Amino acid sequence: MEFTLTEEQRQIRDTVAEFVDEEVVPRAAEIDETDEYPADLVDEMADLGLMGMPFPVEYEGAGLDYHSYAIGLEEISRGSGGLGTVVAAHTSLAGNMLYEFGDEAQKQEYLTALNTADDIGAFALSEAEAGSDVPAMSTTAERDGDGYVVNGGKLWISNGSVADTVTLFAKTDPDAGRNGISSFVVRPEEDDGFIVEGTEDKLGDKGCPTAELRFDDMWIPEDRLLGEEGDGFVHALKTLNGGRITIAARSVGIARAALNEAKSYAQQREQFDRPISDFQAIQHKLADMDTKARAAELLMHEAADLKMRDEDYIKEAAQAKLYASEIAREVANEGIQIHGGYGYTKDFPAERFYRDAKLSEIYEGTSEVLRNTIAQQLLDE
Ligand SMILES: Cc1cc2nc3c(=O)[nH]c(=O)nc-3n(C[C@H](O)[C@H](O)[C@H](O)COP(=O)(O)OP(=O)(O)OC[C@H]3O[C@@H](n4cnc5c(N)ncnc54)[C@H](O)[C@@H]3O)c2cc1C
Repeated sequence: MEFTLTEEQRQIRDTVAEFVDEEVVPRAAEIDETDEYPADLVDEMADLGLMGMPFPVEYEGAGLDYHSYAIGLEEISRGSGGLGTVVAAHTSLAGNMLYEFGDEAQKQEYLTALNTADDIGAFALSEAEAGSDVPAMSTTAERDGDGYVVNGGKLWISNGSVADTVTLFAKTDPDAGRNGISSFVVRPEEDDGFIVEGTEDKLGDKGCPTAELRFDDMWIPEDRLLGEEGDGFVHALKTLNGGRITIAARSVGIARAALNEAKSYAQQREQFDRPISDFQAIQHKLADMDTKARAAELLMHEAADLKMRDEDYIKEAAQAKLYASEIAREVANEGIQIHGGYGYTKDFPAERFYRDAKLSEIYEGTSEVLRNTIAQQLLDE
């Protein structure tokens, strides 16, 4: 087992870190305050090849391995948790749906435009009454000549209001449970009946619009079907498995940001005529924060390694995401504690890290659902 980054992986970390320090960190508080989608930063990331990191160059992707992609996403999320979600939903979810399950024509047409960020991607699975319980979805896609008519709605869709390509899940056979779900490519600009109902006012993850979508007799041509009818549930599960590695990366990035800020604050804040970093209580907090972030990072890389080897990684991805998201919230909490009263104000970023970290415990499988998955895998071994 190799624990050292390759020269290429180190270069990627340095390049993304430099971009994040120069362009994202100075804007992070403003993005958090305004909750505006930072289109200019997305364009800059596209120029650096960060909007299609794990996909082959033949589709205008950056052709990076999954470790490098995770490292890139970790760095972006260190700057802004919301920007981390923008990239993760666009790449791990929408991009991967096309890469894994699209035919050649669909990849050429839709994945290529996602990788250059000429198009922005979203993944529309969840509904008001179907979150953890995916097969409970009620959106339908009914055969209509050489296409489908889609009716229903989706909730909590990251990038949903700015997306050009939405990978959508709908029931083509409502009586067949999970086997009746199919996945499609939807194009909001072209498809009449695609309606953005609004966006959520969230605790954190600002800058990434989380949209409610409605489909009102929306007709889409049959060549937008991904794979075969009935494949959708498996498409969703496989895509979310890969996505969980990147939510682990987002969590590690936020944890690192919280640790870095807390460390530098502790070294300059004086009480009792000495920096608070002299107190063992503070030193132990910093030690635990760093240890947890490193452990989470190793779990993330182990899952990425298995994915790259084409081995089963369901349990490992779930564990990486579960552990990284929970320690990110804990680390961010200790970051606030180290800042004392200042940590509870908007004058310091500590409270933003806490709000951003919390989300990772909810989307792409809640911690409870991930524990179910891990236990199931463990008992089946
Ligand atoms: C900011 C944000 C962005 C999101 N982005 C997207 C996106 O881009 N695309 C998308 O499709 N979805 C997205 N989601 C939706 C997200 O994946 C769901 O919110 C999540 O899956 C949980 O579903 P729910 O909210 O309906 O909660 P519920 O499923 O109702 O869960 C409520 C509680 O019950 C627990 N619970 C449910 N079932 C079980 C069980 N079997 N065992 C134990 N406990 C259980 C849960 O863990 C949770 O604590 C996003 C959500 C948020 C908040």
